Amino acid sequence: MSSHPIASDADAAPASDAAPASDADAVPAPASAPPSEPVPAADHRRLGRELELFDTDPLIGSGLPYWLPDGAEIRHTLEEFIRDRERRAGYRHVYSPVLGKRELYEISGHWQHYQDDMFPPMDLGSEQVVLRPSLCPHHALIYRSRARSHRELPLRIAELGGMYRSELSGVLGGLTRVRAIQLNDAHVFCTPEQAADEAVAALELIAGAHRALGIRPVRYRLSLPDGGIQSGSGKYVADPELWERAIALLTEVLRRSGVPFEAVEGEAAFYGPKIDVQIADAAGRESTLSTVQIDFHQPERFDLRYIGPDGAKHRPVMVHRSVIGSVERVVAHLIELYGGAFPAWLAPTQLVLLPLSERERARTEQVRERCLDLGLRAEVAGPERGTLGARIREARLVPYQAILGPREAADDLLALRLRDGRRPDPLPVGEALARIGALVGACAQELWDERASAVGRG
Ligand SMILES: [Zn+2]
Repeated sequence: MSSHPIASDADAAPASDAAPASDADAVPAPASAPPSEPVPAADHRRLGRELELFDTDPLIGSGLPYWLPDGAEIRHTLEEFIRDRERRAGYRHVYSPVLGKRELYEISGHWQHYQDDMFPPMDLGSEQVVLRPSLCPHHALIYRSRARSHRELPLRIAELGGMYRSELSGVLGGLTRVRAIQLNDAHVFCTPEQAADEAVAALELIAGAHRALGIRPVRYRLSLPDGGIQSGSGKYVADPELWERAIALLTEVLRRSGVPFEAVEGEAAFYGPKIDVQIADAAGRESTLSTVQIDFHQPERFDLRYIGPDGAKHRPVMVHRSVIGSVERVVAHLIELYGGAFPAWLAPTQLVLLPLSERERARTEQVRERCLDLGLRAEVAGPERGTLGARIREARLVPYQAILGPREAADDLLALRLRDGRRPDPLPVGEALARIGALVGACAQELWDERASAVGRG
């Protein structure tokens, strides 16, 4: 049971639950790696340690990983990627605190329906504050911070923000079951008439981001309540009419999007149904990455309003959506998907520069400066790190390697070796870096554009 898209979804379904990809048209195709690329290895926890991306320390606690510099580069790149996509889709970004007063969650309903997953409240003088289990209540208050007109709607508020989940230590591991979660979240406040369009647009945003990342979902799930809604078990907010409206709208959204889906009972959030975009890990275990929800409940609880064209007050609808889910889960998935051989735009180090000897050192450092000026992440691996062969092997997961010998240094050339084994003709440094920069800027899956080379030489 869940308070929010991702909060609920740390529960990976059993392996037998995993379904094969059912629709090649609607679901983004996977990255087609050339055959000589490294084969994705199984477990993100092992790879995360080997590649020095993240780790944990018993003194910080289980389920509380820290990010090492290379992992932090990937995370930062992903966060900027998603912010850029959201900006283009009309979202505005906010920051809100990871703490809130207990009363806030009593109003939202988390206190009544989700307390088992929340950390205990902290006493602060005469009040109690809690680590937030979701971002929704904060965003509802941001909406409510002043009067809203129908002309402002849909109002799309996005945040990459922290939230917390009091998982039992027995089930924690790696980046997939964590107690501190960085969520890619957003809430669209809109009129009831706009809700379906906004949810359809959110699904398109999700599919586009998945394509760029090479992520291939295994299925779309319409997550419904179970019998608890009728029995008044306390698992869900009791308002059958609102549930029915939301379910009807999400069903319409899925039909309009043309994606095949399965309706599954017992997977809804406590305040409403949701569309979950499911992925599977290397072991075939399914989990939710992205979600879209239509929520009539929280606007009621927070008494949200907008002034309509008629001058009267109306109730907006909240569309909750997450494009890449939590940063932790999506990075875990990408580590397993690529086995550490990330597309160039995501790779922690994009270019390794290999001076043949100390004589080319100064020249190599200049090339590195030029890379940094272009926003490329480049490193120099000099002779102090071993023979040329050893240095090349050490950098085998880096998308681009460039050896600088006397000729390259004298003629201002770059002789590139691509991770997949290709070796384009040496190019002037500026041109080689511009081509890499163009591929990185386009979030390309390919490492090289042969046609650009041909044009460049012609
Ligand atoms: Zn939400």
